[in-house]
Amino acid sequence: MKLLLASFLTLVTFCMAQAQALKPPTESALDRFLRYVKIDTQSQEDQTTVPSTRKQLNLANLLAKELGALDAQNVRVSEFGIVYATFPGNLADNSKVPVIGFIAHMDTSPAVSGENVNPIIHKNYQGGDIVLPKDPTQVITVDKNPLLKGLIGDDIITADGTTLLGSDDKAGCAEIMTMLDTLRQNPQIKHGTIAIAFTPDEEVGGGIEKFDVNAFGAKFAYTVDGEELGEISDETWSARTATVTFQGKSTHPGTAKGIMINAMYALADYLNRFPHDILPETTEGRVGFVHPYAGVIDVESSNLKILLRDFDVSGLDAKEKLLRDMVAQTAAKYPQVKITIDVKENYKNMKEVLKNFPELTNNAMEAARRAGLKPFLKPIRGGTDGSNLTFRGLPTPNLFTGGTNFHGKLEFNSRRGLEKTTETLINLVQIFAQKS
Ligand SMILES: [Zn+2]
Repeated sequence: MKLLLASFLTLVTFCMAQAQALKPPTESALDRFLRYVKIDTQSQEDQTTVPSTRKQLNLANLLAKELGALDAQNVRVSEFGIVYATFPGNLADNSKVPVIGFIAHMDTSPAVSGENVNPIIHKNYQGGDIVLPKDPTQVITVDKNPLLKGLIGDDIITADGTTLLGSDDKAGCAEIMTMLDTLRQNPQIKHGTIAIAFTPDEEVGGGIEKFDVNAFGAKFAYTVDGEELGEISDETWSARTATVTFQGKSTHPGTAKGIMINAMYALADYLNRFPHDILPETTEGRVGFVHPYAGVIDVESSNLKILLRDFDVSGLDAKEKLLRDMVAQTAAKYPQVKITIDVKENYKNMKEVLKNFPELTNNAMEAARRAGLKPFLKPIRGGTDGSNLTFRGLPTPNLFTGGTNFHGKLEFNSRRGLEKTTETLINLVQIFAQKS
């Protein structure tokens, strides 16, 4: 026991000495972040091309150039605007350590403008609400953002109130780049080969389809696209979409008696059957939902599109059964309307695969702890690029970035958020090298 304590203390002293001895990167995570957020990379829904907007290539080409300057190898921007690179390991035998990938997305949400982002640094935050200078109605309140209480003394970065900040996910881009910069400055940090990718169109869900898993060359990867410091996610929704179609019969209303069958009433009846307690607006945490989100209302043919979400397949099956039972009930009430339901699988909870690779989550937790953080697991009430990649053979949990309030004008991150995430990434590549 004494010996164990002694070796533990030696290890702690060693880690501390190493942390203190690190040469700083050539550019801080914050400075990098401030440069990247000023580049407009907003993606656009319903486009036929990837990337959906050409302007995302401005950041892609810049990142490719900067990767080259950091001695990354095989740097390329694919025809779809995906930036790939490899950062060589510095071990005696790099083949003994799995190639670890890091992925961040370059685009920002179509929900709020990303043009002329003017990042504001609120230096040495001393508590209280933060009013954004260009639009005083935009206020980051302590009430709605309890995270602020942990940021006293930190430098908080916001937009000016007219745009989003774009921390989602330029924080991830800046943190990955600063990790490489720091590793290059500190060859005493031992690590295996690292694969890097920056992707377009994450927010509109098209970019990842074009991702070349084989060419990427990693055995595992992490998306760096989460929120609060310490938050690690290895679970996403399992997701299906249902389309319920109500077929009636249209005719001239002047001569409709006994002929017209108005499908709208059947749709309204169906909609009224949704239980109140399993909707997005009434659920949180691990509780799934059904969500009628769009539809067509017309005499002849009406339809309703419904999202089904749950962390467990059994829960998803139960929700699908509920929707089918409701169809039977409405059909009994409106026998003349032909009602059909079609359910499609969208994506599955990545935990189904990641449960077979517990070291990915465990090493990330360990890396965060070594950075002085308190890591915690948080299931994502959505899908990530990682869920897509995980089912294509590249197991990919999601790591925090320090940012929050994504897709809105109240988005923020902090100097410590950027620095501690970067430190966690550096710890993570070391842990893989040490444990292999
Ligand atoms: Zn994101």
